[in-house]
Amino acid sequence: MTPDYHIHTYFSDGISPHHSYLNQATYACIDEMGFSDHFSILDSQWTVRNDEILDMHERVQTIKKMENLPVEIRFGAEIDYIPGKEKKIRNLIRSLPFDYVIGSVHFIDNWNFDTDPRNFDGRNIDELYDQYFSIVRKAINSQLYDIIGHIDLIKKFGHFPSTNPERWHKKLIRSLKHTGSTIELNTSGLNKPCREFYPDKNFISACFHSNIPVTLGSDAHEANQVGQYFGKAKELLKSIGYRQVATFRKRKRKMEAL
Ligand SMILES: [Zn+2]
Ligand SMILES: [Zn+2]
Repeated sequence: MTPDYHIHTYFSDGISPHHSYLNQATYACIDEMGFSDHFSILDSQWTVRNDEILDMHERVQTIKKMENLPVEIRFGAEIDYIPGKEKKIRNLIRSLPFDYVIGSVHFIDNWNFDTDPRNFDGRNIDELYDQYFSIVRKAINSQLYDIIGHIDLIKKFGHFPSTNPERWHKKLIRSLKHTGSTIELNTSGLNKPCREFYPDKNFISACFHSNIPVTLGSDAHEANQVGQYFGKAKELLKSIGYRQVATFRKRKRKMEAL
């Protein structure tokens, strides 16, 4: 089973329509594909507009009902975690019949660090890692989400800490285990200055040894990115010891053979 649960269409900041992703999924040997457009309770350019939410939902439902689909379709979302806004996020999640919800941290305070790298200049990177991972831990502990998205996104622009990141990993893994959360192996980091998957091999290996389930996401923003680097990703997971991958339907997790 090869799922790709992290895909953005033109309803948020992707550029391709749904049917192009479907076609590409067949070439990329994807068995189950989840559309997961961006939602945020903060105002931003790259999220689904309020007046388009119903259209977006209907679009996926229409595809789900099509006959002879080459892949199984899931309805997901990538929803920002903002500390203190848990109630609003919960209401948003409850307003739609998602198969799964990815929780991601794209903001440190009001700084959208993954689209605006300028603020990294002159900052203490270790302190930023501290801040970022403490927000991610809150996201996990909120138990709002099924999957934690690109868990070490703070490295995106190639800023790495001066010390071994294990101390952060250990705390995160404790939270993941305690809440029964799933992580994704997000392959899009290979296209970014960090040149690594999210998370890196050491982190994912530590997750395996703590029995944290994993799923796969390409973070595709255009059709040709569906399933990008999945051969390499599956090889890595298998070499670490993973034999199963997490899939979701109506927010229930089911483990399938990798
Ligand atoms: Zn994201
Ligand atoms: Zn994304």
